[in-house]
Formats: sequence, structure tokens, C-alpha cells
Amino acid sequence: MASRGIAVLGSTGSIGIQTLQVIRHLGLTVEALTGYNNMYALAGQISEFEPRLAVAASAQKAMELKKLLQEDGSWMPEIMYGMDGFKLAATMGSAGTVVAAMSGVAGLEPVLAAAKAGKRIALANKETLVVGGQLVCALAEAHGAAIFPVDSEHSAIFQCLGGRTVTSASTAKGAAAEAARQVGATVRRLILTASGGPFRGYTKEQLAEAGPKEALAHPVWHMGKKVTIDSATLMNKGLEVIEAHWLFQIPATRIQVVVHPQSIVHSMVEFVDGTVIAQMGLPDMRQPIQTALTWPRRMKSCGGYLDFSKHGQLTFEEPDHVNFPCLKLAYEALKTGGSMPALMNGANESAVEAFLAGKIKFSDIPRRISRAMEAHKVTEKPKYSDLVAACEEGMNAVAKK
Ligand code: MG
Repeated sequence: MASRGIAVLGSTGSIGIQTLQVIRHLGLTVEALTGYNNMYALAGQISEFEPRLAVAASAQKAMELKKLLQEDGSWMPEIMYGMDGFKLAATMGSAGTVVAAMSGVAGLEPVLAAAKAGKRIALANKETLVVGGQLVCALAEAHGAAIFPVDSEHSAIFQCLGGRTVTSASTAKGAAAEAARQVGATVRRLILTASGGPFRGYTKEQLAEAGPKEALAHPVWHMGKKVTIDSATLMNKGLEVIEAHWLFQIPATRIQVVVHPQSIVHSMVEFVDGTVIAQMGLPDMRQPIQTALTWPRRMKSCGGYLDFSKHGQLTFEEPDHVNFPCLKLAYEALKTGGSMPALMNGANESAVEAFLAGKIKFSDIPRRISRAMEAHKVTEKPKYSDLVAACEEGMNAVAKK
């Protein structure tokens, strides 16, 4: 189970807020909180959880935070800002566990730092693995860091595999390789479930009319804006295929996506003998967050419990690849490898931002990402600087057009 001190990176976002609910429920100690823009929310969290360190995005935001805390006569932590602060929060000695819940590629550098510091990492930020999967996994193995997935699909697969995965293997020499060998030899396919998002069943014409307001109204999950739009385009599932590839060391050809609108089965593992193990639960992110914090122990839920008599039907269907091409783009990026997934991620982040700002249409999102991918010259064995450059190239390629 998680050592008692926890650093929550991205504590004012949707996953961050739910993480603090779980922490409150389990009675764990918070050592650091980091927020980006919302200093009111961060100040409220600081006065409740009394962390040693708080980090804001900029000097101006840090000043704003300090003023809010002084006015309230609240607990005053050390206050830092920017990447140095995020990295300190990810590596401080008093925190055994780092919850990585920042949004987008901004989460990569702190996670790399946490991996180097040998932390127990509860990873919610999928972009980290999409952009830097190879680097993160190699550093984690070299420094004895363990990664516990918070994304509900990956938490499901992790549990179906009994927690015996590469990123959570013991630090004993050869343990990670042995875990990879066992998963590779016994697993036939990973089956990721997708809710289908708010536009499931929409025609091309309906999609052409869809704006940010409709896209943000997700039928099942309540999440941050970026992941909700990704969920509407199915890019979220594409990013999750890449994330699963790194977490479980399974090739793209053995990762299948199936649409399951009820979001009760969070994902499944099909073994070579034909057995399928599924993990089920309510669609409540606090559940995978709690599993990541307490594994291998199981503690009482801070949410509800599943009542099968209330869920008459669980249905499964093929994803619509024609109207939602983002999923295929992600498979292509993973197949191409090298710097391509990083480029695709950058292009997607920029396209989602432009869509939310009303600058491009919903159907422009995959079009622009695809164009950026076609123009990219792949670096086969990317270093950290190549990954950042590819991500920026993707962002610029989309923003310019
Ligand atoms: Mg997910």
C-alpha cells in the first residue's frame, strides 16, 4: 500500500479533486499539491490538507495563492512555481507516492523526475506514456519506480492480470523482464472498452454541426475538458491503446477496442486458453484512483457498489471507424513508432484547443492531425529533446493551418 505521504500533481483538475476525496476517505497525508490556474480551489485544498509544498504555474499565480492564504489566515506551505516546483513536488523525500494528474504533455517532465526518484507513481496522465512511453518505462525500471495505472481501462487490465505487470514488478534483477515474458506468453489480447462518447451513432451530417457544448456533455463519465473532447473523437481510446502498449508491453495488433456504452466493464484480458477476465464496477474514477493508491490491498469503497439488477443489459459493438478516424490514426502512430506518437499527441492537443475555442469544426480535428502526421519526418530512436520537438511540431502544424 501507498506510503502515507502523497504528492498530488494537478490537484485542482477533475482527477485531482477525486484523488483528494479518496485521500480524505483513506486518511492519508498530503505532502504536496500543485495546481495550474485555479488558485481559489488550490487555497481551499491547502487549508484542508496542510501540505508542506504547494506549486502554481507562474510567479503571478504563486503570489495570488500566497495572498489568498494570508487573507484567510490559513496554513502556509512553501510556495513554488513552474517546472522546478512541479519537479520538486514529484521527487520530495517525504512523499512515497506521486499522483500524476496534470493534463496533457505538461505532465511528462515531472513523471520522468518521479521515475528517476524511484517513486510509486499513480499515473492518470496518459499523454505522458503516449509521448514518452519508452523513456518513462526504462527510467522506472532502472530506478525501481513502480507505475500503477489510474486510467479506468488500464486499472482494469492491471487487475485482470493480478497486478503482475512490468511497471509494478519488484525491483529484483530480471523481475520486469520476467513479468513481460509471462504477460506476453499468456495473454492473447487486451480488450479495451470505450463508452463511445456523446456522439456515438451520429451521422457525418450530425457531426458536422456538433460544437463544444454538445461534445462536452459526456453521457457517462464526468471528466476534464481535454479528455471529454478526446472521448468524443475516440482519440481518447487511441491514446489509451498506446498507453496500454507501454504499460503491458503488448503489440498494437493484440490490443482491441470494443464500444460498451454502459461503461460497467472497464476492460478485459483474453488469455491464450480462451478465458476472458473482465473487471467491472460503477463508472466512478475514485475506484481506479483508490486501487492505485492501496494496491495490493483492497479497502472499503468511498463511492457506491454495483447493483446488477439495475443494469439490465451490457452491450458491445464495433467502433465506427469511418466517422471517428482518430482511433485508427493512433494505431498508425503506434505502428510507425519513434517520434510519431509524440507528434500525434501534440497535433491532437492543439486541435482540441482550437475546437474548444470555436476556431475549427469537430470533423477538422482528425483531418488536421492526419495532415500533421503525413508531413512528419520520423525520428526512429527519439531522445527526450526529439520527443518534445515532435510534440511541438504537431502543435504548430495544427495551429498554423
Ligand atoms: Mg480511460
